[in-house]
Amino acid sequence: MEENIASIKPQQVWSHFSKLLQIPHPSGHEEQIAQYLYDFAQKRNLDATIDEAGNVIIHVNATLGREHSPKVILQSHMDMVPVKNDDVLHDFLKDPIDAYIDGEFVKARGTTLGADDCIGVATILALIDDKDLEHGPLTAIFTVEEETTMKGAFGLKKEYLEGDYLINLDSEENGLLYIGCAGSCDVKLNFKFDKVKVENCQGLSISLNKFEGGHSGADINLGHANAIGVLALILEDLSSDFDFFIQNFEGGIVRNAIPSKAQVILNVPSDKALAFKEAANNAYKRIISTYERKETHAAIKISECEVSESLCYAQSLDLINLLLSLPHGVVRMSDIDTSIVETSVNLGTVKTLDEDIEICLMPRSLKETGLDEIITKIEACAQLLDNVDIELENRHACWLSQDKNSLIDSMQSSCAQLGLKPLKVTLMHAGLETASFAKTAPKLQLVSLGATILNPHSPKERVHIAGVGDVYEIVRHTLAQL
Ligand SMILES: [Zn+2]
Repeated sequence: MEENIASIKPQQVWSHFSKLLQIPHPSGHEEQIAQYLYDFAQKRNLDATIDEAGNVIIHVNATLGREHSPKVILQSHMDMVPVKNDDVLHDFLKDPIDAYIDGEFVKARGTTLGADDCIGVATILALIDDKDLEHGPLTAIFTVEEETTMKGAFGLKKEYLEGDYLINLDSEENGLLYIGCAGSCDVKLNFKFDKVKVENCQGLSISLNKFEGGHSGADINLGHANAIGVLALILEDLSSDFDFFIQNFEGGIVRNAIPSKAQVILNVPSDKALAFKEAANNAYKRIISTYERKETHAAIKISECEVSESLCYAQSLDLINLLLSLPHGVVRMSDIDTSIVETSVNLGTVKTLDEDIEICLMPRSLKETGLDEIITKIEACAQLLDNVDIELENRHACWLSQDKNSLIDSMQSSCAQLGLKPLKVTLMHAGLETASFAKTAPKLQLVSLGATILNPHSPKERVHIAGVGDVYEIVRHTLAQL
């Protein structure tokens, strides 16, 4: 018989997790799970609030004699990313998640598991329920929409962040303790163009597909090719021997993913079309060879299509030169942990609209000054052309807490007492809700840890069972000692 999730040790955590799996909670639809958490507090006579954003805040008094211990906030997000395999029938608004034990991991059948971040929620509920744990004053905060708008973190009032320390349980690698994360910004360039009619031309489409892509923060140092950048290089190469006119340029899907595909539709003089195709194939082979060990599935497809109105020759070249000038990739490594990217930028999407071409980039940095530097460079590229406007939005602050304080000391001594390796104190080249809390409550010292979750946000998502136990024990010991 299949082992029950609720019976995995530590049972306190997994029995809560198995109950949370029964409650639908995709981002934006957290009402049921919020009510469940509120009821959890009510049943235990704990002071609980659901705030305007929909976050649940639970206050837990100190155990006897621990009233003057540092006040700790435990925090997780209650929403999950709803993704399923095409062949699975699952309604994320109604159906429970069907989880099972798969070796050292727990995963779901054909859907995301939602261990990101309900394993954090379950860990906090287990700590609140732990009758043997002596602790100082605690606050539990469960936020909404972390995976989409960050509405919960942005909307959380300062009064709920009163405390000495905040432990976020939303990071995803055993043995790591994060004390900082990158800020980011959405940068959009609008390349305005006039459409012209061309004669004696053949329409050609060049599409690049199946590039590795990846997360624009976590994967930016992996050396993957940017499909938009490779396509721009091919066109630049062709421009020395051929005239062409761009009808349409499309690339990437979202600005926070490294583009895995790009396509351009061109008008090419009919008598040169054959030679153009051959030259494009050759240029592709030469350019992609830089990435031969990484981009093993990358492919080019060139096909004929209709002639249509297009950018003029000069604007076609301007667009290519702009795409090639824009920064992309790793810009600087961190001096605190040299294995971590400090500043990077992803040339994420290109989209052709009626009157302009929209180019979206996402710079990230562990330092505000790093973010400023990249934005300045992008602005400088835009200023070289008089038909390009720039828009900046959604600037998210970076977060950096102390790398030495009594919370971290307690966590390391807890690891030693539990026979675990010391936690590696590090930084994350991606965003976490902690950055928003640090901005709202600058005196609060924050850390983030969590059990290893592989392939989050996909139906392959799985959480490492032993890691869940380690995180629970580390936090439990820390609260007892602090
Ligand atoms: Zn998460």
